[in-house]
Amino acid sequence: MTTNPFAIAQAQLDEAAKLLKLDPELHELLRQPKAEHTVRIPVTMDDGRVKIFTGFRVQYNNSRGPCKGGIRFHPEETIDTVRALAAWMTWKTSLVNIPLGGGKGGVICNPKELSVGELERVSRGYIRQIGHLIGPDIDVPAPDVYTTPEIMAWMMDEYETMLGHHAAGVITGKPLFLGGSEGRGDATARGGMFTIREAARELELDLKKTTCAIQGYGNAGMHAHRLIVEMFGSKVVAVSDSRSGIYNKAGLDPEKVAEYKAKKGTLDGFPGAEKITNEALLELDVDILLPSAIENVITEKNAAKIKAKLIGELANGPTTPEADLILHKKGVFIIPDFLCNAGGVTVSYYEQVQNANLDRWKVEEVHARLDDAMTEAFHAFIQMRKEMQVHSRLAAYLVAVDRVAQACRTRGWASRATKVSKTKKELTPA
Ligand code: GLU
Repeated sequence: MTTNPFAIAQAQLDEAAKLLKLDPELHELLRQPKAEHTVRIPVTMDDGRVKIFTGFRVQYNNSRGPCKGGIRFHPEETIDTVRALAAWMTWKTSLVNIPLGGGKGGVICNPKELSVGELERVSRGYIRQIGHLIGPDIDVPAPDVYTTPEIMAWMMDEYETMLGHHAAGVITGKPLFLGGSEGRGDATARGGMFTIREAARELELDLKKTTCAIQGYGNAGMHAHRLIVEMFGSKVVAVSDSRSGIYNKAGLDPEKVAEYKAKKGTLDGFPGAEKITNEALLELDVDILLPSAIENVITEKNAAKIKAKLIGELANGPTTPEADLILHKKGVFIIPDFLCNAGGVTVSYYEQVQNANLDRWKVEEVHARLDDAMTEAFHAFIQMRKEMQVHSRLAAYLVAVDRVAQACRTRGWASRATKVSKTKKELTPA
């Protein structure tokens, strides 16, 4: 009953490893990051004092391609959270079948308490510490909780300054005019919508008639609010951010809510809506629940009280293993995080491809490719779920881990069958 995200990530892998009969040495390799780095970042604050921040970069696995994953700026960041998120990135890039591995980074800081100048110096300072460890063919960071395209631009600039030449592909989620990709802004939510569309087909849910609650109003939650209304005509009755939530049975208008939040910095006081806590929001009688904030919000304490039929995990790690089992028994259909929210990294990958080719794609092209990638991933997952009769997350793990294991094996990172070549002829390629 741990809430340590890395212990959870390892337990999830163990379950999959058993069913896959994973080679013991590969299981051992995949239980831990291949490399991890903790750095101290001296930053001159606005008052002239120097404060030392701590940052992490975890490179979990690169068997399928360069490590890939965001950077979180969070006051409660820990190495274990970053390890877990890096593991989940490994399964995410595999499930969505893009040629990348998994990594993650973080800096312990509270961006809400930093001035813009301090935020820029933390961002640049972090890159000065990890710059020699990353690169377009090594490890490619991106935005995550509390990091933005502007921060990606500072980081890219710092990296290019260290190198002395351009290297836009070192980081993704950049502003459009600095090598960012069309469609990256709402890619996480849009990718999630494609999986919701496919899941609704499976469940024979008429999305036009569904109600929805969204926990979290950052990049994923805010765009999900707009897109689920725009694409499917669902009614979003409740949304929340880290501080407060709002509820209106008749539905909340996405543009008005986003505008209000941008202006006031809070959802509190949104006209015509009742106040609702984050806890109560999760237990609302809605068809679709979209946890879109942080990890461990659906646990063994509240899982039995969840009434939604479909949960789309736009956040990373919102559901604990105990809650997974309770929800599965109740018949709630979960679209697991590293499938549901894989749209972000998928368009990040498109950004890398465009950067490598000095190219720019139209938004329609990005959307069409994203739809294909997410739909294909969903079908690999649902087929496995049906074949193996396991809960959603385990099915997603089986697909993802098997692909990573295959890549590791083919590279020679696992023992071969003990057939020893006896003759020179056998050793000579035909
Ligand atoms: N931070 C996002 C995620 O957790 C995107 C990562 C990326 O674009 O590399 O998937």
